[in-house]
Amino acid sequence: MSDERIDTREERVTELYHFFLNYVDPATKEYKYKDRLHELPSQPRRFKILRVDFDDLVISLPEIAMELSRDPRTVIEYMQEAAYEALANIRPLDAEAMSKDEIHIAIVGEAAGTELRIRDISSAYVGRLITISGLLVKLSQVYLKLHKAMYVCTNEDCGEEIIREARFIGEEPTPPKECPSCKRKNTFRIDPRRTIYKDVQFARIQEKPEELPPGQIPRFIDIVLEEPLIDVAYPGEYVRVVGILDIDRVKSREARYQFRLVALSMESLGKENVETKLTKKDIEMLKEMSKSPDFYDKILRSFSPSIYGHRHVKEALLLAIIGADDKVLPDGNRIRGRIHVLLVGDPGVAKSQLLKYAVQIAPKGIYTSGRGSTAAGLTAAVIKDPGGGMSLEAGAVVLADMGICAIDEIDKMRNEDRVAIHEAMEQLTVSVSKGGIIATLNARTTIIAAANPKGGRYNPHLYFTDNVNLPPTLISRFDIIHLMRDIPDPKADEELIDHIIMAREGEKVYEDTFSPDFLKKYILYAKRLKPVFTEEAYAKLKEFFLSRRKKYDPDTGTMPITNRQFEALIRIAEASAKAHLREVVTVEDAEIAINQLNKFLREVAFDEESQEVDVTSILVGQSKKVSKVHTVLDIISEMQDEVDGNPVPIEEVIKRVVEKTRLKDPDEIARLLDKMHDQGLVTYPQPGLVSIVGKRRKK
Ligand code: ADP
Ligand code: MG
Repeated sequence: MSDERIDTREERVTELYHFFLNYVDPATKEYKYKDRLHELPSQPRRFKILRVDFDDLVISLPEIAMELSRDPRTVIEYMQEAAYEALANIRPLDAEAMSKDEIHIAIVGEAAGTELRIRDISSAYVGRLITISGLLVKLSQVYLKLHKAMYVCTNEDCGEEIIREARFIGEEPTPPKECPSCKRKNTFRIDPRRTIYKDVQFARIQEKPEELPPGQIPRFIDIVLEEPLIDVAYPGEYVRVVGILDIDRVKSREARYQFRLVALSMESLGKENVETKLTKKDIEMLKEMSKSPDFYDKILRSFSPSIYGHRHVKEALLLAIIGADDKVLPDGNRIRGRIHVLLVGDPGVAKSQLLKYAVQIAPKGIYTSGRGSTAAGLTAAVIKDPGGGMSLEAGAVVLADMGICAIDEIDKMRNEDRVAIHEAMEQLTVSVSKGGIIATLNARTTIIAAANPKGGRYNPHLYFTDNVNLPPTLISRFDIIHLMRDIPDPKADEELIDHIIMAREGEKVYEDTFSPDFLKKYILYAKRLKPVFTEEAYAKLKEFFLSRRKKYDPDTGTMPITNRQFEALIRIAEASAKAHLREVVTVEDAEIAINQLNKFLREVAFDEESQEVDVTSILVGQSKKVSKVHTVLDIISEMQDEVDGNPVPIEEVIKRVVEKTRLKDPDEIARLLDKMHDQGLVTYPQPGLVSIVGKRRKK
């Protein structure tokens, strides 16, 4: 080391020493770092954290701040030394009990070093101070690493002792190769009792979903977190990490090295999207615009304008994105405010498109398919590290905590996820217990999902629950379910095609709509509002609910509506008030809620036979009553089983139906069979014979 270098070192340490002792926070007029140093010894871990705001350095010691960005390893060592000397000045006894490398300098602040997007990390920054932010997707268990190791020569006649220290965070001491005393090679062992270990944890940070360019695989970077930076944030949280970019060897044949970030600090930024910010001006503008009578309509028109029609589906998705607030009752019970929406429909009716659009404008929106795109699946998983340990990895529903998770093709979901998703939709958490790790992760996520019918196309003659491959317990967690059927209709078809052509060819469908960026801001503001219910709104909902309840039929057990739907009504009305940017929930909001629910119940829970809504069919899985079509199908199936699956005579079918069921009119049964034939439920393989479609001959 040249003399000049030693001079700089001493100079720098002295400057930093004075900075720590004398820096006064301009806002609070307190000795910021002196106070922090005072508190330092009382921290519970061996390694203590001293948070240093990069901005303070920039103001007080700009040259050192620059050096810190360029050569963080060197300057962090200066800072450790200076902090230790400052501590020795104010708390000499405590300082004596520790050593300077036990002070962890945690550089914090948005401007620390170079702020990089994960996508932009390159080898040009290796060894430099960088700041990144993203979504924490994975956190390992706590491992131990050597910090200060005592090596003892195992040669009995020798017993030489050597202490080796880790030179810097992220590194380990190198064991001595040859004993300097007895000159033998590789004789050293570690004496664990006289060795200092340090806790270490590995994390993975992924690009924020909203920053991800469409169609790209999210990039990530692995983070090394050493004591005291243990458990400072959990999977699903947005974090900012300030650290030193480093290169790590990997054990794969294709690639030799990868980046890793040795963290100086990691801070949780909470759960919300921090990118879109609302200014006072934005809020003024939104308030002004909301006064226009067609404001809400224009918002709905702006929701995925390239998709024709489906206004009520768009409205349901918008209300889900905005949502109501969770309520905590005086007895401690929590009522969820999140509105879950399920779209069930024929292929090609724009379910996926609408979900993708919703996620684009929703704060913290994540789109995933039911199969799950990572090993963590939809919820969370405990995953084996390459090193043999365990990591907790968050799946989409946890990553979208406090946001929206769109699950496309939810009917294809894995069985493990079915259980966990229940919990996520009703409670606010997801639990994992596997490989010795038991964890509960927050999942205050709104679920918007789409499912295709079991048989390819929706069959209106089957019950809803028989049409979708989802357990009724899960179906009943959705506040709104909309059916999207693809039924040819000359007029509507022409309009749809014209619309698709217009959306492709020009601006016309986007005329007089708000941009997605505007919608993002609008949603952010709407979410913040806390509208209060008017008595009239409550009265309207109550009246609707009670009038529906009156339709209860004790003979058949037809259940028109349940308390669950009343809670849904309240949530939807509150969300509607927010969507109108109102401070109060009005009768109009109550009507919007009633319309949404009515449409949903009529589409999904309508019982053809009684011409009434029967929610039992979606809540329990089957209605107490069986539809006529079902009755006849059951009889044919039973008869075909008796003859090895061969077709059976129609006449006998009719006879048995009359014998065994409530259907007594042979002509009606014959007509029903013809209808079932037209709908493709049964075939007539020969005149006078009938067979259920898909029924196989038994061997
Ligand atoms: P699904 O997920 O329901 O099977 P998709 O979202 O994949 O359907 O839609 C299929 C295609 O049809 C998409 O390109 C979509 O834009 C188009 N499409 C379907 N319905 C509409 C509509 N109402 N307006 C405009 N385009 C539509
Ligand atoms: Mg689809």
